[in-house]
Amino acid sequence: MNLDKRNLLYRGKAKDVYATSHPHQVLVKFRDDITAGDGKKKEIMGLKGYYNSLISAKLFQILEDAGIKTQYLGLPEPGYILSLKLDMIPLEVITRNIAAGSLLRRFPFQEGQTFKPPIIQMDFKNDEYHDPMLNDDIILALELATREDLEIIRETTLKINQVLKDFLEERGLLFPDFKIEYGRDQDGNIVLGDEISPDTCRFWDSETCDILDKDLFRKGESGVIEAYQKVANIILDEKDKKKWNLDF
Ligand code: UDP
Repeated sequence: MNLDKRNLLYRGKAKDVYATSHPHQVLVKFRDDITAGDGKKKEIMGLKGYYNSLISAKLFQILEDAGIKTQYLGLPEPGYILSLKLDMIPLEVITRNIAAGSLLRRFPFQEGQTFKPPIIQMDFKNDEYHDPMLNDDIILALELATREDLEIIRETTLKINQVLKDFLEERGLLFPDFKIEYGRDQDGNIVLGDEISPDTCRFWDSETCDILDKDLFRKGESGVIEAYQKVANIILDEKDKKKWNLDF
């Protein structure tokens, strides 16, 4: 397939964003670069971008089907996602259903403790300041979002959590936590952007509690790509697999 791919607009840690012939659409290339620890640990892992694009496309489609506005427009071929162009809000919106990761390093929670209702945490997406945790007053003072924006972000995030958690649990995956990002479309509406993949979520096998996400790379363990492939295999249905001729 001929991709509608023009000039490079932005290069992130794991994705490149290209202009297309359409002024309000961009083409996102999912790269194989994998990073951890504030970008200090870096590697290239063959097929990571391929699996992440398939996983993210599927999860965004599920959210679209549930009535959530997202930037997802389609998967022209594995590795690339066509997206609505957004003006991104520099917030990392983290939702936590089970205590894991940095939360355990910073606060006296028990490992595996569940949160009902889930915890929503917002970090400042800013490399220079190392993504510090924010509160509403700091977000307002930095003019990252308004009170109304925060209300929409919180409500949408809780809905996203519920939809994805139900979908994943039905397929034998626990969903301890995940990070999402929002942007504004050309009319100023808040829309879900970025990606939802094992790079940005924790996925655990609900039977064995095996880790199936980037934590394997953070911990220096083997089987990272095998875990990403397993997540893709679990969440894609036969129709998806047939369409892309996937034989895993
Ligand atoms: N996360 C992310 N990007 C970041 C920070 C966190 O995608 O810059 C995701 C991470 O993959 C996990 C969740 O947000 O699913 C919570 O991460 P945590 O704060 O526990 O930090 P970590 O343990 O990853 O350092």
